[in-house]
Amino acid sequence: MTNLAHWLQPCLRQVQVLKQTNRLSHALLITGADGVGQEELAREIVKDLMCEVDQAAACGHCHSCQLMQADTHPDFRVLDGQASTIKVDQIRLLVRQISQKPQVGQNKVVLMTHAQAMNINAANAVLKALEEPAARTYFILTSSQSTSLLPTIRSRCLLVNVPTPSLPDVKQWLMQQPDGQALSSLFWLTTQPFRLLSIQQQGKVSLYAELPNQLTTMLQGSVPVSEVLKGLESNNIEDYCNGFAAILHQCICHSAGAPLDEALQDIYSALMARLGIQTLMLRYQSLQKLKSDLKKTNLNPIMQLTHELNQW
Ligand SMILES: [Zn+2]
Repeated sequence: MTNLAHWLQPCLRQVQVLKQTNRLSHALLITGADGVGQEELAREIVKDLMCEVDQAAACGHCHSCQLMQADTHPDFRVLDGQASTIKVDQIRLLVRQISQKPQVGQNKVVLMTHAQAMNINAANAVLKALEEPAARTYFILTSSQSTSLLPTIRSRCLLVNVPTPSLPDVKQWLMQQPDGQALSSLFWLTTQPFRLLSIQQQGKVSLYAELPNQLTTMLQGSVPVSEVLKGLESNNIEDYCNGFAAILHQCICHSAGAPLDEALQDIYSALMARLGIQTLMLRYQSLQKLKSDLKKTNLNPIMQLTHELNQW
């Protein structure tokens, strides 16, 4: 077994058994909450499917396995919907490419991550490809919002649901990652393990880790808003919005009885004293709107976030 996170392993075994007994559907939809490891599971399944040796798990040595390790396998295609909408032209190009015979091994695989980012024309093109599957071609879709996919696409896929790991499982897993222990200081933001890892890989741990302290001193009147936002730039404003929104969300949940991370205790007391729960909820909605408007508004986003914090 690979060093795949242990909550992903039963899902992988389920697919391996189907593959080994020739019962695997040519389309898989891997679902689960954001950051629990759908993409990591999908990549393992792809490796198994591309391997030329007739066994459940990838051998790691054959020509196909080596090409997969080098990320240069010609029969494997990826479309990632995280950054932008997946468009119909991309799907058509992909379908043309995979209509050829496999160049190396026996199978061809298309991986579509964040598949909810397909627009309707792209989704219809995918549906057509699933309805008329090319021989030995697999489609693997991942999505944290699978209900927003076309029902006709969902019904053609084998659903693989990744469970959300428990907090002790996440802690234990983080301990095994390089510098993973430091990430537990961000549990107020998220406990989704792969989201934490992605924040680390982007070098943004300290940006997030400092937010609660900076906000506390601001609410206590020790520093101005500009000091809290001194690291703010147009390319990280979404991170600031995510951080502040998570803090408000935790405080709102705490007012309804949920436990509160220690890092947010002082912020909670200050916000409740200054704003009260009703205004706090309005500020949360306003912040969410600011975040969703970031890509479509011409207003200066830094000014908008400064204006927002001035009302806390
Ligand atoms: Zn192999």
